[in-house]
Amino acid sequence: MRVKVDRIDELADGSRVILDYKSGDPNERDWQTDRPAEPQVPLYAIRGRGPLGAAAFARVRNGGSGFRGIAAAEGILPRVKAAERPLAEQVEEWRRVLARLAEEFREGDARVDPRDGPKTCETCHLAPLCRIREAEADQWA
Ligand code: SF4
Repeated sequence: MRVKVDRIDELADGSRVILDYKSGDPNERDWQTDRPAEPQVPLYAIRGRGPLGAAAFARVRNGGSGFRGIAAAEGILPRVKAAERPLAEQVEEWRRVLARLAEEFREGDARVDPRDGPKTCETCHLAPLCRIREAEADQWA
């Protein structure tokens, strides 16, 4: 898989700070789920060399710019607190989650299983082509 990160900085201790620019309102808590909706940063984190110093969304928008993410220590990125556990553990967790998702994809897992249930379908443009109605009918048969 080829990925292109928005920005990586290297700190004096050799650790990496990974940034993903966003104009919307992403939330780093999404990275703690088994099906992250914004997996780019975790993907960059597991592929790069060297320890992770911080990983964040860099929000760029009128009246609300700033960072949201995780860091190995206070002060690496403004207003990003130190993570409660070593970032190396977080990177290993991301590796496990992303490897499982990739494996499911490779095996052709085509279950109709929207990430956040009906809420996900509300804004989906694929509804006319989707099998979710059949899946729901099977569930109640
Ligand atoms: S309508 Fe179908 S394709 Fe779209 S989010 Fe829902 S389950 Fe997925």
